[in-house]
Amino acid sequence: MTKIVSLCKRRGFVFQSSEIYGGLKSAYDYGPLGVELKRNIAAAWWRSMVYERDDIVGIDASIIMHPKVWETSGHVAGFSDPLVDCLNCKERFRGDKAPRAEVGSEVVFQEGGKASGKKLKGTVGACGYVCPVCGSPNLSDERQFNGMFRTTLGPVDPLADFFKEIKDKNLDEREMRAQYEECLKRSLVYLRPETAQAMFVQFLNVQQTTSMKVPFGIAQQGKSFRNEIVVEHFIFRSCEFEQMEMEFFIEPGTQDHWLKYWTDERMAWYRKYANTPANFRLRQHEDNELAHYSDDCYDVEYLYPWGWGELEGIASRTDYDLKRHGAATGSKLSYFDQNKTDPETGKPGWRYVPYVIEPAAGLTRTVLAMLLDAYHEEKSVDANGQEKIRVLLKLHPALAPIKVAVLPLVKKDGQPEKAEAIAKELRRAGLNVACDDAQSIGKRYAKHDEVGTPFCITIDTQTLDDQTVTLRDRDTAQQERLTIPAAIAKVVEACRHP
Ligand code: ATP
Repeated sequence: MTKIVSLCKRRGFVFQSSEIYGGLKSAYDYGPLGVELKRNIAAAWWRSMVYERDDIVGIDASIIMHPKVWETSGHVAGFSDPLVDCLNCKERFRGDKAPRAEVGSEVVFQEGGKASGKKLKGTVGACGYVCPVCGSPNLSDERQFNGMFRTTLGPVDPLADFFKEIKDKNLDEREMRAQYEECLKRSLVYLRPETAQAMFVQFLNVQQTTSMKVPFGIAQQGKSFRNEIVVEHFIFRSCEFEQMEMEFFIEPGTQDHWLKYWTDERMAWYRKYANTPANFRLRQHEDNELAHYSDDCYDVEYLYPWGWGELEGIASRTDYDLKRHGAATGSKLSYFDQNKTDPETGKPGWRYVPYVIEPAAGLTRTVLAMLLDAYHEEKSVDANGQEKIRVLLKLHPALAPIKVAVLPLVKKDGQPEKAEAIAKELRRAGLNVACDDAQSIGKRYAKHDEVGTPFCITIDTQTLDDQTVTLRDRDTAQQERLTIPAAIAKVVEACRHP
């Protein structure tokens, strides 16, 4: 991870947000190469979900939705994590993610969580976990903490209202708090913690305007926000992040078939872009992990440097969401299939509330997984017997930020002009191209290996004589001499999506 984080900063993939102000924990900025990688991953997902099939359409909904959406979905009441403070080292963490320990067992930990601290003993309490940092069982009680960011919509300052309303009233703290919540409620909105709800709320509009027939899906990509108690592992868990979610509406009773279908599809999608497909696996949720509305769920997991962790959740969500939004609004969020027989009445035509399978992936988390999967170091020995390390990002060419670098060997004899002309042709073919004439050719190759550029086209004196170039492959470092059209065709072909 340290190497990836340093490469990301050095080469312009990911920067800390507001770095010159000391940085903002939990938010990241994508630099010139990072934005390309993220957009390429998003485009690959959109391609496989929307363009390559005729049963899924896309939407792009607003981040701020009606606050009642989040009451109905259960996020206001239920989207909360158990927040715990360690009384020994002062770490704040999520109880549900803390290391488990047997209730009543004795554990040893360092005072204050410091290596120099005294060795202390303690007994694991009824919660059955210890501090993830220092291992102490001396913990505060769990407090429920809602992960949604709250803000207000409109010009009225709820605080001004609050002060006006409590003036001359002798309220205690609890009453004041209730009054404040009351003032806030008038203009309260949330930043969405997931993109999924918009697909349920817009189900009817989408179905009616497209005449899609069940089974069909609605896909969306975009920003989500969670006030995470613990932000961790660089872009793995941040407070502002991007998701790629799809709600697939199906006939009740077919959920086992479609859950299997979507877990297979999604695993195949990750694996076809990966160097090490075995580092992606599926894990079925235990019964006690399932949300109350879900009848089955799988996680696509990646083997991160700290172990297996979630990359995407694929849940069978039953008819919970459509039913809830339908009941809350009085909208008829159902589907009529005239070719089916109603199983209850036995009459032709069946109106039902569709069930839903939801593959919910993290775009920014996939950026991290693809960087980890691509990072390689190759050791070799140079002519002087010195050990050299070649760092390369073996990103799939379709995902690579720069597809090809065009490099004149020298900055004279018409080579830079020729390089520009070839770059222009490559750009016309739709590729993101870098034209680079700074530094020695070896350094330029090394730089492009490190940022994952799959090909380098080198212009030399022979190019101006016979219109041939050398095409260098990032992964093998092998070069071949080709005509210019043949080199361009080869790059274009390799950059196609698998
Ligand atoms: P986790 O268990 O890691 O908190 P989750 O189960 O809460 O994740 P979901 O609600 O299923 O996550 O969201 C779908 C996907 O969105 C996740 O698989 C992950 O890729 C991504 N995601 C969720 N929370 C974050 C976050 N804070 N930062 C980055 N990506 C996230």
